[in-house]
Amino acid sequence: MANQEDLFKNIISHAKEYGFIFPSSEIYDGLSAVYDYGQNGAELKKNIREFWWRSMVQMNENIVGIDAAIFMHPTTWKASGHVDAFNDPLIDNKDSKKRYRADVLIEDAAAKLEDKIKKEVEKAAKRFENFDEAMFRSTNGRVVEYQKKIDEINTRFKTAMENNDMAEMKQIIVDLEIVCPISGTRNWTDVRQFNLMFGTQVGSVAEDSSTIYLRPETAQGIFVNFLNVQKTGRMKIPFGIAQTGKAFRNEIVARQFIFRMREFEQMEMQFFVRPGTQKEWYEQWKAARMNWHRAMGFDASKYRFHDHVKLAHYADAACDIEFEFPFGFKELEGIHSRTDFDLANHEKFSGKKLQYFDPELNQNYVPYVVETSIGLDRMFLAIMSTAYTEEKLDDGSGRVVLNLPAFLAPIKAAVLPLLNKDGLPEKAKEVIDLLKYDHIITSEEKDTIGKRYRRQDAIGTPYCITVDHQTLEDNTVTIRERDTMKQERVSIDRLPEIIDARVSMKHVLKKLA
Ligand code: ATP
Repeated sequence: MANQEDLFKNIISHAKEYGFIFPSSEIYDGLSAVYDYGQNGAELKKNIREFWWRSMVQMNENIVGIDAAIFMHPTTWKASGHVDAFNDPLIDNKDSKKRYRADVLIEDAAAKLEDKIKKEVEKAAKRFENFDEAMFRSTNGRVVEYQKKIDEINTRFKTAMENNDMAEMKQIIVDLEIVCPISGTRNWTDVRQFNLMFGTQVGSVAEDSSTIYLRPETAQGIFVNFLNVQKTGRMKIPFGIAQTGKAFRNEIVARQFIFRMREFEQMEMQFFVRPGTQKEWYEQWKAARMNWHRAMGFDASKYRFHDHVKLAHYADAACDIEFEFPFGFKELEGIHSRTDFDLANHEKFSGKKLQYFDPELNQNYVPYVVETSIGLDRMFLAIMSTAYTEEKLDDGSGRVVLNLPAFLAPIKAAVLPLLNKDGLPEKAKEVIDLLKYDHIITSEEKDTIGKRYRRQDAIGTPYCITVDHQTLEDNTVTIRERDTMKQERVSIDRLPEIIDARVSMKHVLKKLA
């Protein structure tokens, strides 16, 4: 593999070629940052969602799941802060007419200076024996100059963002002499804040209609239902409410395939706790969520925690679980200790009490919240990109295999009649009927058996069950395992038990408990 960029391109075309992900409305040339899941993608995505749901809701007696609507009362988004503060700073280049995120342009400029320093360091490291990097960084004129500039940019940038000072953001871009990568000019508009929420009209007559938003996160559907669930479910604190569903953000810089989309799906859980205990719960959820990720069976080095140093105004602790995507370590999931910010604000804006009576303390309070929030599409990309493997085989040939965790694979087994005659297809049908009530099973009759194995490898099907002439004699089939390509001969009667033991989600859930 030439490099990570090529690898990523191959993954994207593989996802399309094998029915995982298609560009949205492709016959019209697609819609930027929107994607459709194909026949295999929909299954894989559903399995990831189910794994999350079952590990949260089914495995925890004190967590229940809801399904709130995408549309919510517009005041929800006032209370949550999204109307006023869910913004990205935008800037346009007047010549290319291209739009950029001002913060990204500035961060990229700082990153370029970092690269220059790195190059100087690498050059010097080659030249000098017993190279002392720290000493070099503090004494080399050029490096010191670059570092000074980076520090200055970072300070100015941070202050401008904190003060919402868009004029200063523009001035930083001017001072850094940043040019548009397309036109090469510095002909910039002013920087202005751009709200990421999609608005739409409710009501058929223009005068009667009012603007409502497509939810930018699923969490608020949980907060506004806090009391409904607590009372009807007789929930006792600590307890959690989980939800999966679509969220919409008008992302300006939408790139990296399904990493950053305008329509995506979130899986969020809000855990309501007694004030003062949030630190403990935050640590517990950090550990629990990392365990969940590790159950995929990928290398531990693919994950890391990134603690937020600069906290959002409502959080008293926050971190991301970062994953090593083909384009580097990036946020996959957020774990946030949100204090009572959301419930207290909904109390304020709605005028309704959103409190819990704690019988042990004999006291009412607004609970504190620890949130776990993960993007389903991002998780899909993490799994797909790690599972994608281009293999060289001993006989000199190659194959592409998706080493998907078996319990997540879209198709659990393919039943393949060796030949398309002699009663083998009919026998294969019997095998399918034996398994299809528990698992998604496929069958294929076209092409040589070798080609059919390769196709299933590329989809990530963990087992191929081959029906041959011996099957007709002694009721046995071969099972070929995707990763090792090893085959074993087993009786058809034992198939349900064998397949179940190897692909069922319940075994993974048991290990997690
Ligand atoms: P980022 O910094 O990448 O924009 P964020 O910090 O805004 O993400 P949150 O608001 O914390 O993200 O959302 C929780 C999770 O939802 C993220 O960890 C990510 O997995 C997912 N997510 C957020 N925005 C998008 C998007 N545009 N496309 C796909 N997934 C997303």
